Amino acid sequence: MNILVINCGSSSLKYQLINSETEDVLAKGLCERIGIDGILTYQPAGKDKEKSEKAMPTHTEAIKFVLEALTNEKTGVIKSLAEVGAVGHRIVHGGEKFTASTVLTAETIKAIEECSDLAPLHNPANLIGVRACQELMPNVPMVAVFDTAFHQTMPKTAYLYGLPYEYYENYKVRRYGFHGTSHSFVSKRTAEIIGKPYEDCKIIVCHLGNGASLSAVMNGKSVDTSMGLTPLEGLVMGTRSGDIDPAIIEFVAKKEGKTLDEMMTVLNKKSGLLGISCVSSDGRDLEDAAAKGDEKAQAALDIFAYRVVKYIGAYAAAMNGVDAIVFTAGIGENDISCRSKVCKNLTYLGAEIDEELNKCRGVERIISTPESKVKLLVVPTNEELAIARETLALVK
Ligand code: ADP
Repeated sequence: MNILVINCGSSSLKYQLINSETEDVLAKGLCERIGIDGILTYQPAGKDKEKSEKAMPTHTEAIKFVLEALTNEKTGVIKSLAEVGAVGHRIVHGGEKFTASTVLTAETIKAIEECSDLAPLHNPANLIGVRACQELMPNVPMVAVFDTAFHQTMPKTAYLYGLPYEYYENYKVRRYGFHGTSHSFVSKRTAEIIGKPYEDCKIIVCHLGNGASLSAVMNGKSVDTSMGLTPLEGLVMGTRSGDIDPAIIEFVAKKEGKTLDEMMTVLNKKSGLLGISCVSSDGRDLEDAAAKGDEKAQAALDIFAYRVVKYIGAYAAAMNGVDAIVFTAGIGENDISCRSKVCKNLTYLGAEIDEELNKCRGVERIISTPESKVKLLVVPTNEELAIARETLALVK
């Protein structure tokens, strides 16, 4: 069966068409500037990217262009829409309602709408994509795959904040965690690689991309993760601050005469690697700048790695041990020096990195020495494939 995977944002939409038997990507691409003008990027497997300007006043037009490209006589990869067996949608927030992926029905869509309060920027945009697909493919089954669902197994000790309990009761303020599809996919694959039953493993997943989070996965279940009610908590990220003393918000707001909204923009968009370095949010730019002697760029990279080290320590403690620590996403898969820096601080766990094996980018590999008590790995994430697998399992 061919499965169309859709990741829909407020003005952009990423898509992949995946053959669920072979797990090959038949075509992929992106619609950008929806509601402004519209650019479609389309890339059939093994061929060059095509970029074209198309009027996309709404997401419905955007998806229409995607479907046209997929079925185009010359460059398409399928003959007709009848060859799309199901659509898998990435949905950011499933609240406490969704502990697993779900088939989209009028009822489940309503329940997702009710979680929008928790992700006002993301869930409504995700649902626009769902509705546009339903309009154009009314008879094709659709599935929602949530970023939060994998972490719903966390115990109360991990998900409750030290706040008045009524905030949890009244507003559902708690840790939810994100990147769940990636943490689940990568931890499962790690268990396979190290040859231990997933239900019997203690794994720490370091998903280090522009957005970054760690998770503690014990016996196949997420027991803690570094992002919280929103993706702002935890690690230092590309432009997000991660953990700070909450009193800083009031302190700086008073000094600079900023509103709460302005402070949230600073914490989400102007902090992290970008904020510290004053250079860039991109790890590659920072490595270049640091190599030329830029001290702030070096500090940003060091602080990023240090925070990862601290969270690994916390999660090894939370699980009372760890079998494997795995790096994934843009920085985790590609940044050799970041992995090296982090792993050098893990010798107390008996983890020993092999610096030669660590010299790799974007490939699946064990990077610890044979003697290492804790296995260290790089496992590229593939959220689209994970969504396609979840979708297939629910529509089969
Ligand atoms: P997201 O999906 O959160 O946007 P990605 O997982 O694609 O992020 O990761 C993007 C980040 O990966 C970039 O910000 C960049 O810093 C980092 N990155 C990619 N390649 C490299 C590299 N070779 N060295 C260092 N960092 C890299």
